[in-house]
Amino acid sequence: MEYKNIEKIDLAILPTPIQRLKNISKAYGANIYIKRDDLTGLGMGGNKLRKLEYLLKEALDLGCSAVLTHGATQTNHGMLTAAAASKLGLKTILILKDSSGKRPELSGNLMLDEILGADVRLVNTQGLDKEEAENLASQAAKEAVLEYEARGMKVYEIPTGGSSALGSLGYVRAAGEIKDQAEAMDLKFDYLICGQGSKGTFSGLWLGSKYYQTDYELIGVNVMETPATIKEDLASFINEVSSSYEMNISCRPDDLKLVEDAFKEGYAVPDRETFQTIRDLARSEGIFVDPTYTGKVFVAMLDLIRTGEIEKGSNILFVHTGGYPGFFTDYHTDFVKAHKDIF
Ligand SMILES: *Cc1c(COP(=O)(O)O)cnc(C)c1O
Repeated sequence: MEYKNIEKIDLAILPTPIQRLKNISKAYGANIYIKRDDLTGLGMGGNKLRKLEYLLKEALDLGCSAVLTHGATQTNHGMLTAAAASKLGLKTILILKDSSGKRPELSGNLMLDEILGADVRLVNTQGLDKEEAENLASQAAKEAVLEYEARGMKVYEIPTGGSSALGSLGYVRAAGEIKDQAEAMDLKFDYLICGQGSKGTFSGLWLGSKYYQTDYELIGVNVMETPATIKEDLASFINEVSSSYEMNISCRPDDLKLVEDAFKEGYAVPDRETFQTIRDLARSEGIFVDPTYTGKVFVAMLDLIRTGEIEKGSNILFVHTGGYPGFFTDYHTDFVKAHKDIF
């Protein structure tokens, strides 16, 4: 079916605002704007709601009474799935891979999952390689689905990050929204910057930029370790979305621009430079970026400006994808306590 005929439900407050970061722009000699997808309005906001608008529409159409999804212990996507599902009267099952080897503290998203009443199933993946961890998680998912089916419920399964072809349409649509807003503001963006984790946001925005014929360059910033084939993987996912929804757009790996090493010491591992940037943005604009995703992406963007890869005077749109609950996890609060000198 064609993209434009695919229906969604309304979960997020859209369009999200685009604002100019006046003080940071002045300090860096560029016009930096921020797309506030942290303000999507349900369950503390974030990018996953745009994908869930499509995914949960399909779940309802299929007559499902529960949704199951996957992620890391502190997944924002899992919590937002539980929030959106609650609103729609669906039960949520979360299969969470935990490699820490300890019992995770009930903090951040895990605490919110509890409040939302999600059925949280932790899978201990300590010492396992990626494939073994995946296998263990899909086995846990299979068992959960059987249990719910035995109770007469039908379960809709959503992949990690909500990044199926259908879910990523949320960000194709967001590219259209950005185009309309830019026109209304009489602005032309030269660059769009977003985090890249599970493919959906970056791929959707890339496809959307072609579909809606905008001429900025999209730069994705990896927020986690990725395989050496990441560009090939993204291009083939993009081509899959394009052909599934008859968009007639094709993508080669070389068409994609990624910053591959911005996750610093590792996915969700706190670091000094990111917290300094979080501090500087908060103290100059009153806006928080989070320590796991958007903070690292913001650091990468400022580096590109500093090194001249993004020319001075450019119009840049930073996509704030949310992630606030990450602040309130033990490993991030411990880092802040141990690095008082930064603050
Ligand atoms: C999931 C997430 C991302 C990455 O989005 P993907 O679509 O998975 O690439 C970025 N920022 C935040 C806050 C997220 O929760």
